[in-house]
Amino acid sequence: MNDLANTPASALETDRAPRQRKPDWIRVRAPVSKGYQETRKLMRELNLNTVCEEAACPNIGECWTKKHATVMILGDVCAWACAFCNVKPGMPRAVAPMGPENTAVAAAKMGLEHIVVTSVDRDDLPDGGAGQFVKVIEALRHNTPDTTIEILTPDFRGKMRAAVEAICAAGPDVYNHNLETVPRLYPTIRPGARYYASLRLLEEVKAHNPLIFTKSGIMLGLGEERLEVHQVMDDMRSAEVDFITMGQYLQPTPKHAKVDEFVTPKAFDAYGSIARAKGFLQVASSPLTRSSYHAGDDFAVMRAAREAKLAKERRKQDRLEV
Ligand code: SF4
Repeated sequence: MNDLANTPASALETDRAPRQRKPDWIRVRAPVSKGYQETRKLMRELNLNTVCEEAACPNIGECWTKKHATVMILGDVCAWACAFCNVKPGMPRAVAPMGPENTAVAAAKMGLEHIVVTSVDRDDLPDGGAGQFVKVIEALRHNTPDTTIEILTPDFRGKMRAAVEAICAAGPDVYNHNLETVPRLYPTIRPGARYYASLRLLEEVKAHNPLIFTKSGIMLGLGEERLEVHQVMDDMRSAEVDFITMGQYLQPTPKHAKVDEFVTPKAFDAYGSIARAKGFLQVASSPLTRSSYHAGDDFAVMRAAREAKLAKERRKQDRLEV
C-alpha cells in the first residue's frame, strides 16, 4: 500500500473560483505598520532591492512588520521573462559593488537571526552571478556571524557546476532553488528553464556538501494535476531535497499567466501531509506560503528535525553494536 491510499479524496479536491477573483482565504492586510515603514526606509537607505516588493508578494505587510525581508542582489532587472514572475524583464544593469556589504548592514540593523538572499537571473555574467552570492555570504559571516543564511538562486544555466561549487564552498546554511511548477507546464510558465536541469542543481548541492539543507518550492493553481504534484515531490526526494514549499500562484498583472484555480486550504493541508509522508524534513504548504515566508522559524524546525533523526540513527547503531 502506498502512502496515498488513506488520503480521503475529498481532502484533495480543489474549489473552482471565478478567474482572478481571490477567495476569502487569500485576503491579506494592507502594509501600513510602523515596522513595515522602517523596513522600507532601511532598504531604500541601503539601496537594496527586495523580492518582496519586486514580486508584489502578498505577505509583505506581515513580513516587513516583523523585519523579515528577502534581499534581491544583482539588480532589479531579470534576463528572463517567466509567465508567473513580476520582476522586470530586460537588459540587466551593472552589478552594485556595495550590495554584499549593504546586505550585511541590513541584517545587522534588523537583528536578523536568519536571512534569505535571492537574485534575478544573470545569464549575461560569466559566472551567472555566483560570485556575488559568495561575497554576500562572506560579508554576512564577517559582520553577523550568528545569522543563518539561506540563498535562493537561479539555475545558472550552462555554468551550474562551477556556480554551485563556489557557493557551496562559501557555506550557506540553506540552498534553495525552486522548481516552480510541474514539468508539463514549463514550456508556458517557465519557458527559459529546464525541469531536470533544476533538479540536477539540487542534487549537485548535496553532492558538494550534504550538510547544507536543500529547499525547493512549487506554485499551485497553474493547471497542474494532483498526481503531477506528487511526482514533483518524489523527484525532489530523489534529489534529497530537505524542505518543500507549496503556495498558491497569484497573477501579478493581467499580462501574466492566469490563475487556473484557487486551491483550498484543505487541499494544501492534504498535499502537506503527503509531502511529510514522503520524508521531507520540513514542509510548508498553504495558500500564502512563499519560499521565504516564515523562513527563519522553518529553518529552526528543520534543523531540529535533522538532529532528532541523526540521534535516532545513532541510538539504533549503538544497539546493533552492543
Ligand atoms: S514571504 Fe518572502 S518575499 Fe514575501 S514578503 Fe515575506 S520575506 Fe518577502
